Amino acid sequence: MATFKAIRIDKTDAGQTVGLGDFDDNDLMEGDVTLRVEWSTVNYKDGLAITGKAPVVRRFPMIAGVDAAATVESSSHAEWKRGDKVILNGWGCGETHLGTFGEKARVKGDWLVPLPPGMSGREAMAIGTAGYTAMLAVMALERHGITPERGPVVVTGAAGGVGSVAVALLGKLGFHVIASTGRPAEAAYLRQLGAADVIERQELTGSAKPLARERWAGAIDSVGSTTLANILSMTQYAGCVVACGLAGGIELPATVAPFILRGVSLVGVDSVMCPQPLRREAWKRLDGDLDRNKLAAITSEIDLNGVIDAGRRIVEGGVRGRVVVKLG
Ligand code: NDP
Repeated sequence: MATFKAIRIDKTDAGQTVGLGDFDDNDLMEGDVTLRVEWSTVNYKDGLAITGKAPVVRRFPMIAGVDAAATVESSSHAEWKRGDKVILNGWGCGETHLGTFGEKARVKGDWLVPLPPGMSGREAMAIGTAGYTAMLAVMALERHGITPERGPVVVTGAAGGVGSVAVALLGKLGFHVIASTGRPAEAAYLRQLGAADVIERQELTGSAKPLARERWAGAIDSVGSTTLANILSMTQYAGCVVACGLAGGIELPATVAPFILRGVSLVGVDSVMCPQPLRREAWKRLDGDLDRNKLAAITSEIDLNGVIDAGRRIVEGGVRGRVVVKLG
């Protein structure tokens, strides 16, 4: 019997359990590509899965992990052959399909994206779902006509994974970036990444007025709840707000005033089931528009032994930037 190491989540009568253990190759799920996972990363959703704080895992036993940079070990899919370097983000991995905190994964070839030439697997996972979501959010702002000339863009949860990459991307694209954080000690870090201004998260957390002073043309919000409501109320005429997260809560206690009186657009971003053309475009853009030195500066590294602790810390808002996981 061949086994591999993995972060395994089980369900018992007492609730969900999580641990690093052996997983049997024969228990891998269906798929036309088998991967040797070399790098993964800890996202907020992984934290929710590991702690059981939200019902992310919908199949047991589960291998946690939604992201992989991997080498194809075997394939019956037309696009992929043994030795190809690929990226996997989402598609239910770590939720309904066995995930990526394991040395092996078997998935659908249709889910995979080629690793851009010149990008390492470690860099791809330093970006990971959080960074690729940040890119999707930037592309959504662009589609809605938000350019640097239109005015500032605010990024919430700025010291987190989505936030850090969004700040770096927007800064490189020439935007005046306002970074909102609950960790004022990270102000220097955020300025180094590309923020022109750093504001306190508290400025955006009270109950929102229908309309407030217009402060920005665009926003990338990974927090939700009253933060998103305040952001909407402070968005300039014809501005655009991209909602991509719920680190502060799932509710949205807002009014329609920004939409009907200022023509503000609220746009959603989903990375998990995002169609391939948009996904590949996002990875192409990440290859060109993200400063690799800045990426390195936001990245810390662990191995499988550190994943459970990192998962707990990320849901407590205690992780700065991105955490990559080295496998094998
Ligand atoms: P991180 O934990 O790395 O970042 C979240 C940040 O939000 C924290 O660092 C903190 O930033 C801020 N924050 C945390 N708790 C609170 C709170 N209670 N109130 C206000 N701000 C808070 O997570 P990720 O960047 O990986 O993910 C961010 C969000 O985006 C998550 O909700 C995640 O589920 C979602 N997401 C959605 C995706 C999609 O497909 N739509 C894909 C990826 C992520 P600071 O300390 O700077 O204030």
